[in-house]
Amino acid sequence: MGTATFPFPHHKTPALFVVLSGPSGAGKSTLMQAFVEQYPEFVRCLSVTTRPARGTERDGTDYIFVSDQEFADRVDRGQLLEHAQVFGKHSYGTPRSFVEEHLAIGRSVIKDVDVQGAFTIRGTFPGALHIFVVPPNRAEIESRLRSRGTEEEESIRRRLSEADRELTVWDRYDYLIINRDIAQAVRDLSVIVAAERMRVRRA
Ligand code: 5GP
Repeated sequence: MGTATFPFPHHKTPALFVVLSGPSGAGKSTLMQAFVEQYPEFVRCLSVTTRPARGTERDGTDYIFVSDQEFADRVDRGQLLEHAQVFGKHSYGTPRSFVEEHLAIGRSVIKDVDVQGAFTIRGTFPGALHIFVVPPNRAEIESRLRSRGTEEEESIRRRLSEADRELTVWDRYDYLIINRDIAQAVRDLSVIVAAERMRVRRA
């Protein structure tokens, strides 16, 4: 009897590109942070942004903060996998080399983007796993945005009205996580990742 492992292709665990999107205030950054702490086989991809740092945010830890000119140069040089202007104000983008280089060496990558970014990635990276993260209700979005203590009233209003629009696209995602509590959301995400690793067919 043959004892060699059956040559099922999914025995070889693929590196995953996990894309989280959902409205501002859904808890995506907190979820990503908590997830990579528990699952170090994942690396978090930082975004490049023209938005100024807020509160305790640090360049190279929370975001890669750049000028408008530097951002435009990166776009021109094709260095961003996707980029979008979020809330009609600041630009955000995903560094292409970070994602490609980590996936190439078998490291899984996790990244958060707004819904426009997620749609772009569907076109450029068909194998990405798209997860929509939502808070349990609207009041929770508002209280999370306010509890940051760094957001101006106008920015909170804009983020809330954008959230209403963004919530309508949830059914175009692979999975939905309702973020009631962070520990549960991390467990939900780990279950999704575990299932993906056993998936037979991929796009
Ligand atoms: P914030 O200013 O609150 O940090 O982020 C605002 C929104 O921009 C969030 O919904 C966040 O997910 C999104 N975002 C962060 N990085 C990127 C990125 O690289 N690309 C896109 N398209 N959106 C991003």
